[in-house]
Amino acid sequence: MQAIKHVVIAGGGSAGWMTAAALKKVFGAKLTISLIESPSIGTVAVGEATIPQIRQFNQLLGIDENAFLAATAGTFKLGIEFLDWGKLKSSYMHPFGPYGVNLNGVQFHHYWLKRKQQGSDCAILDYCLEGCLAKQNKFNRSAGQTTKGPTPINYAFHFDAKRYAQFLQKYALDIGVKHIQGAISKVILNQDTGFIESVALNDDTQIDGELFIDCTGFKGKLISGALHVGFESWRHWLPCDSAIAIAAASIDELKPYTQAKAHKNGWQWQIPLQHRVGNGRVFASEFTDSSSQMDKLLSSLSSTSISEPNQLHWHNGRRLKAWHKNCVAIGLSAGFLEPLESTGLQLVQSAIMRLISLFPSKGFSQVDIDIYNRYTKQEIISIRDFIIAHYKVTQRNDSEFWRYCSAMEIPDSLSERIELFRSNGRIFRENNELFNELSWFSLLHGQGINPQAYHPLVDTLESEQLEQYLIKIKQMINHTAASLTSHSDFIQRHCASS
Ligand SMILES: Cc1cc2nc3c(=O)[nH]c(=O)nc-3n(C[C@H](O)[C@H](O)[C@H](O)COP(=O)(O)OP(=O)(O)OC[C@H]3O[C@@H](n4cnc5c(N)ncnc54)[C@H](O)[C@@H]3O)c2cc1C
Repeated sequence: MQAIKHVVIAGGGSAGWMTAAALKKVFGAKLTISLIESPSIGTVAVGEATIPQIRQFNQLLGIDENAFLAATAGTFKLGIEFLDWGKLKSSYMHPFGPYGVNLNGVQFHHYWLKRKQQGSDCAILDYCLEGCLAKQNKFNRSAGQTTKGPTPINYAFHFDAKRYAQFLQKYALDIGVKHIQGAISKVILNQDTGFIESVALNDDTQIDGELFIDCTGFKGKLISGALHVGFESWRHWLPCDSAIAIAAASIDELKPYTQAKAHKNGWQWQIPLQHRVGNGRVFASEFTDSSSQMDKLLSSLSSTSISEPNQLHWHNGRRLKAWHKNCVAIGLSAGFLEPLESTGLQLVQSAIMRLISLFPSKGFSQVDIDIYNRYTKQEIISIRDFIIAHYKVTQRNDSEFWRYCSAMEIPDSLSERIELFRSNGRIFRENNELFNELSWFSLLHGQGINPQAYHPLVDTLESEQLEQYLIKIKQMINHTAASLTSHSDFIQRHCASS
């Protein structure tokens, strides 16, 4: 039960600095934390869109949100708009807030489905405050003038990835994390136990530690390079494995949402920041080549490009054990799912929280390690299924890529979920998975599945009552939206970047 006193973090990308900042904040003087990074290797520097859970991470660190957004040129994010996914010229929003209000234990969308079957042409997004605000380019942290007081709005952020890492670095150094610059050339293992004893840098400096956190990115210098933990590939379900990212000049209106527009061989993101727009063309290298995708990216930009293109390649999948012996892989070294739902930093954040709750002593209990690995696997698999569904639930057949995706075999767990929704609109959240019923509804309905039935309890409401119930919710949302100012105004007033 001897306490661990020295943690070595290898890697200074977002994962490394997030881990360093959180562990030092929580453990304080009880833990010495050294972070090693190699400026010559660099970071991927593309994680710019987040999901609302990031706010809990900021709260843990005690970060002032306005200062944080000003420092990272950040904007607010109320959801993701998907264009051309279910079929060409279709669109839907995956908003971060709920649709309507559940009634009698039945999810709101069942009531809406009945009204739709009765001929109403009301869009589901009209019943979601976050969705309405997104479409109107409006933002506020609370919903303003409701009779029962402000309702919090569920939001996340877009930010400049490089500035985010710098912000966290400053935070971590200020609270006492040690920063070592240099490339790790060798990992020294104990000959008897196979545990990591130290890492050696190019200049032969040796850094000892008791717990090593591998945040070295895709290559996993420690977890894979030294400990040889294998990797499970999900390429057959998620063929997009490449992206070209480029920054473009700001455009007038600051959208409070990410855009993900599907194309013949993948999709393209647009992320509005205060000082520029982040763009990235994601594609499946098996179906197309990078030079044609580069041309398409450059010709589709809504404003002048202001950076060199950054080409990225990855493998969708997971490390078979994120924690092995005295090494925990966090970030890209632990696995990666393409960025469609902005889950990369969330996986980092939840790994940190899991590590804190299962933090080892020098004895390293195998039960802790097994539980950590089990939950890590469970989490990434549930996100994986959510992302696969974007490619599977489509009527697109205008390219080899889409014909492959719509015909591919999918995991049984996902098939069952899709069939359940198709037959009666039901969705169940399993094992506290990241994406809840609202997210699944947005996706499955947004990509073209119209359930054949709704929940029978909906029929306990007379048609007139049902209509009034929906009208009232819509009115409240419209009233609130009308009282709020634009996203750009809000940023100017509270968190403009210098
Ligand atoms: C195309 C793309 C788009 C993405 N978009 C999003 C998004 O919108 N939202 C989101 O949440 N996530 C996104 N992600 C994921 C997100 O970028 C990563 O999860 C996040 O940046 C964490 O990366 P990392 O720190 O693990 O790795 P990296 O950024 O690669 O950092 C690795 C670090 O390890 C160091 N290093 C490597 N080898 C050595 C060595 N031998 N010695 C010393 N140091 C070493 C490097 O110097 C660097 O500091 C995206 C990823 C990709 C590929």
